[in-house]
Amino acid sequence: MSTYLKRSLETLASRNPAQDLFMQAVTEVFESLEPLLAEIPDIEAKAILERISEPERQIMFRVSWVDDRGRIQVNRGYRVGFSSALGPYKGGMRFHPSVKLDVIKFLAFEQIFKNSLTGLGIGGGKGGSDFDPKGKSDGEVMRFCQAFMSELYHFVGEDTDVPAGDIGVGAREIGYLAGQYKRLTKSFAQGVLTGKQVGLGGSLARKEATGFGAVYFAAEMLATRDDSLKGKNCVVSGSGNVAIYCARKIQELGGKVLAMSDSSGSIHDPAGIDLDIVSALKEVERARIDEYPKRRHGSKFFPEQKVWDFPCDVAFPCATQNELSLDDAKALLENGCIAVIEGANMPTQPEAISLLRQKDALFAPGKAANAGGVAVSALEMQQNAALQNWTFAQVDERLKTIMAEIHKDCTFYANKYRRPDDYVFGANVAGFLKVAEAVNCYGVI
Ligand code: GLU
Repeated sequence: MSTYLKRSLETLASRNPAQDLFMQAVTEVFESLEPLLAEIPDIEAKAILERISEPERQIMFRVSWVDDRGRIQVNRGYRVGFSSALGPYKGGMRFHPSVKLDVIKFLAFEQIFKNSLTGLGIGGGKGGSDFDPKGKSDGEVMRFCQAFMSELYHFVGEDTDVPAGDIGVGAREIGYLAGQYKRLTKSFAQGVLTGKQVGLGGSLARKEATGFGAVYFAAEMLATRDDSLKGKNCVVSGSGNVAIYCARKIQELGGKVLAMSDSSGSIHDPAGIDLDIVSALKEVERARIDEYPKRRHGSKFFPEQKVWDFPCDVAFPCATQNELSLDDAKALLENGCIAVIEGANMPTQPEAISLLRQKDALFAPGKAANAGGVAVSALEMQQNAALQNWTFAQVDERLKTIMAEIHKDCTFYANKYRRPDDYVFGANVAGFLKVAEAVNCYGVI
């Protein structure tokens, strides 16, 4: 490793103690940049790595609210504006008990490069709270969202920072956040949040975009080996928004989804998962996935298994960070898996990625493969700004083109630096170069 790279990572680690996820995300990107450092001396001379890895701003705030039993609850809210080099901070908000500054910073950092890859003029940010939506009533979720926005509204705006959803935040939560923003600012301000319900100015196909996009990316990748998803056995971890629409698109393209999961365990259905049941359970009833076998003959629930334990050709981690370990990668490879496509953010541990690459399995990193969600968020911003509503087919077509472009950019840089099929390298370099150029152009700010 070059001395500049080493020094940058060491300084970062000492400045950010106990932020393992953030360091994991930065290390992966920085290691990819090694071959560029000698070629572009300005990266070091202009302190690009130091500037790109220090968030522009990090906001933390108290969120107090009253639960259904009249008790006062206190959570912590976060919004990290990591980089506005390419546009306003853009990225989702995660409501989950595991949320802490480390989680938000790693996500915001990933978002910089993901958003750069979309080519749509959006910076990188992320936010959220350690609020646990599980088991909360609709009224509690609404009161929490209102309390959260009562502080956040000072910092967001269509040219400043445009939040959206992530784990635990969907169209319902975005609606409550938008309502409070509107109440506090007396402005309709459609452009301040994306992932809105269509009736509030949301884009058609936004809900589907992350999952669909990951599958479009997978199809592009498989096509480089004259292969496709047709007839492939697939497993998809998770059963949230990303997982459900990833699974739907796999089925549409002729693949079979054998397993899905949630935090309680996995379901396996040899006939192929019935997504109407999963959608009803997850999107309507907000129930656990162990209900599925009760409604579907021949399927089974496994509380101790991960979806990676079931034989498959293609795996889509669509749940959460670091959910696919080295042992999981071994199990996948032993069962003949040929490709892993990340629908979630950083779900595959670094050692697992190395093994998959060593064994010549295709691997798509989240910042490329799951960029479809934020890309359609940017299309939502475009529609709002132009007072337009595009059809589902128009948005889906744009999404498909954007995913194909991202795939092209990744392979271009992977091939240029003689690392064919290295999508991690290609995505990091392609994402970085645009941001670095912008940082350089602005001068020292
Ligand atoms: N949370 C999503 C992501 O990880 C979407 C962000 C957005 O739409 O702004 O990219």
